[in-house]
Amino acid sequence: MIIDKVRIFDGTAMLGPGAVEFADGVITRVLTEPVAASGASASADVIDGTGLTLLPGLIDAHTHVFGAESNLELALAFGVTTELDMFMGPPELTQALCAAAGERADLADMRSSGLVASAPGGHPGHAMPLLPTVAGPDEADAFVAARQAEGAHFIKIIVDDGANHGMSLPALDGATVTALAGAARRRGLLTVAHVSAGWSARLALDSGVDMLTHLPLEAALDDAFVSRTADEKRVAIPTLAMLEASAPETSSRPRTGRSLAADPRIVGYLPDHARTAIAEGHEGLCVEKASPQHRFTHALASVARLHRAGVPVLAGTDTNYRPDRACPVVHGAGLHTELALLVEAGLTPAEALTAATSAPAAHFGLSDRGVIAPGRRADLVLVEGDPTKDITSTRSIEAIWRGGVRFDRAAYRERIAS
Ligand SMILES: [Zn+2]
Repeated sequence: MIIDKVRIFDGTAMLGPGAVEFADGVITRVLTEPVAASGASASADVIDGTGLTLLPGLIDAHTHVFGAESNLELALAFGVTTELDMFMGPPELTQALCAAAGERADLADMRSSGLVASAPGGHPGHAMPLLPTVAGPDEADAFVAARQAEGAHFIKIIVDDGANHGMSLPALDGATVTALAGAARRRGLLTVAHVSAGWSARLALDSGVDMLTHLPLEAALDDAFVSRTADEKRVAIPTLAMLEASAPETSSRPRTGRSLAADPRIVGYLPDHARTAIAEGHEGLCVEKASPQHRFTHALASVARLHRAGVPVLAGTDTNYRPDRACPVVHGAGLHTELALLVEAGLTPAEALTAATSAPAAHFGLSDRGVIAPGRRADLVLVEGDPTKDITSTRSIEAIWRGGVRFDRAAYRERIAS
């Protein structure tokens, strides 16, 4: 297959118009000129990409699949070819779904942290008595070893006292998080810390975790914190889509995420329940007891500062959607909200696209994807227009390939309509 005369966003920059060829699931050639101009031969099937842009398959760096295959199908229907799941169990289910997602062309591929590390009686274990917890630094290595044995691709650590849910719960302390981060590093696993507020972001940074996910809503990160984050080569996964849905809405700034439910480029590919969840849902939020000081604009300001300081920012939605849970941030579609919010925060559209393609691939060690280059997986999204000029062009999807297999979007649309 050759896509010819197409603008190519290769994961970092725009090339072409040129041509991309793939065979047996792998990109074989990338030409920076159309086939005819380059003098190359074109024996394969050719798609005329005039006016279109080819992107690497999108990667959502923070999701919750909850064991639901339908979530991975919904993700793929919106061009998300890989999801990084940040908490799922039981381990047998996580392993089985990761294996299926690795093989099936009709689902987004996935990686998962499996079970999260949290304090006894803390968030989220207080509501999940079977979840293993970490009582202190002495238990850190055994916890990480157990997750590694279960096939976890990275270690997720919860640093949260429940205040955002109107509770006061025990949280992991600095010594325990430091021990978890150290154990994971020795075992070759990345650590991702869920931070609920400024105090927990500082604790995570002090403890040496690799990545921070979410951002405080009560205040923007200050310059000292941001420059330390940059100096110490940490990575941020802000989850703006979920933070926007969680913070109180203000009249001056209606929620970008809600507008998806009325976007003709999106709505035809949403099952009814997902559309209602986007328009009206409130479930699955990080902040259920928001106070007036919780402002989404604080998170936007933090992203701007992190990005300016050179901290890699990855696009992740924190979608908590499933067919029985009306979270307003849904798989696949929600990533297009995240891209728009990253641009609102101050990334250029091309930088936002990098945050959803080559950057998560590089920082999570997914060296086979996230970039359009020979030898990479043919995870590709073809869109109308130029998303480096208008980021919402990512919603105008013409075609999606996962591992070189085209996703039948028309059939998907018919199926969900019936
Ligand atoms: Zn999450």
